[in-house]
Amino acid sequence: MSDLISKKRPALLCLLLFFLSALLFIAALLFVMAAAVKSTWLVLSLFPLLLLFVLVLFNLLLNSTALALKKNIMLPIKINRPLSGLLYGLAAFIAKVLGVKEQFERSFIALSASLLGLKKTTVKPEELLVLLPRCIQNNECKYNIVNNLENCISCGKCDVKEIREIVSPLRIKVALVTGGSQARALVDKLRPKAIIAVACERELVSGIFDVPGCEVLGIINERPEGPCINTRASVAGLKEAVDKFLTGS
Ligand code: SF4
Repeated sequence: MSDLISKKRPALLCLLLFFLSALLFIAALLFVMAAAVKSTWLVLSLFPLLLLFVLVLFNLLLNSTALALKKNIMLPIKINRPLSGLLYGLAAFIAKVLGVKEQFERSFIALSASLLGLKKTTVKPEELLVLLPRCIQNNECKYNIVNNLENCISCGKCDVKEIREIVSPLRIKVALVTGGSQARALVDKLRPKAIIAVACERELVSGIFDVPGCEVLGIINERPEGPCINTRASVAGLKEAVDKFLTGS
């Protein structure tokens, strides 16, 4: 299995906060139901919500067991991801209170990559989409590559050159996007089966939840000059991600 997918990543923080959030939700619901025991309609109306969060907890247990056993025993992605999404807000809030918000986001991205690594997802090159952030282009570059990466003349001042060298021979779709809404519009239009996205933590997390039926492998960008300017991507990591989706290994 590829190094990008298989190597130990700090998914533990995310799992811990997800478990804590699920248990808090369930405890709060049980508390309200117990307090409102004389109001049958309220207890009955909260019951489906309680069942939903028990399912959320079950999904978490399945994911954790899958990681521990290194076996794909997870629920389908169209169920798995929305169930995780129900916990994300509270878990992120707890992480913020604890002062570990960025670590939590990184941990969630690592967890998603680890779960994806357990699957043997293979796609054809034309079913794969590589999304790059606008800020990966050198800020002094005068070529407009937002709508067409072919306008890049491969001068090598930014990572676009090397990324094109990986994806162009395989005819993999690649796009530079200016933000989440443009990325979503592109995904709606192209309907890829899998996405490799390079972005900052916040954009990657929202992107992963925005496309619940699509496999997304997030690669956190590097920001040697600060956020949103001349950012870099791990070209080796991107190559590895492309190989993983095309071969399933
Ligand atoms: S590699 Fe392409 S996008 Fe990057 S600075 Fe050179 S011409 Fe511009």
